Amino acid sequence: MDVLSTKALIAGLFSWISLHTGYEIPEKAPDVVFVSHEKLVELACHDECPVLGFYHPSRVVYLDMELKPETNLCARSILVHELVHAMQHENGSFHDVDARERSILREKEALLVHRNFLRQNGRGNMFKRNLRLRRTVNGAEVREGAKNWRWPLQAYFGPDC
Ligand SMILES: [Zn+2]
Repeated sequence: MDVLSTKALIAGLFSWISLHTGYEIPEKAPDVVFVSHEKLVELACHDECPVLGFYHPSRVVYLDMELKPETNLCARSILVHELVHAMQHENGSFHDVDARERSILREKEALLVHRNFLRQNGRGNMFKRNLRLRRTVNGAEVREGAKNWRWPLQAYFGPDC
């Protein structure tokens, strides 16, 4: 995914998010950096966790290097989620509540937009509310931090979404 096409993709997603949230489109688009799962964990959770993307207020979106948001709609929904966080940051959303409450409200909104994006693209029924795959081979729920959490999330990585 080269820099130019990333920019075009972000511009399109920013307008879509703006329509759904009323947020103004930031003048400067964030950089999108693809990193290893280990790096993402280090940035986002400090301990093993099922993280796929992370927004840093230095205007960088970090995505798992195995995600292909240009060709995979599920992967693109992760980029949408992180871009919502970028817009929240730039727009100063929920600034009138304390930091803890603010991060909860921002996450709720990002998940709502994320789910909307999947639904509008005909992928809504693949996911439960927590955005994990509805069905695994053995029907098991995926637990936070489970060693094999990645496998049931194949839709995000594979060619089938
Ligand atoms: Zn989030």
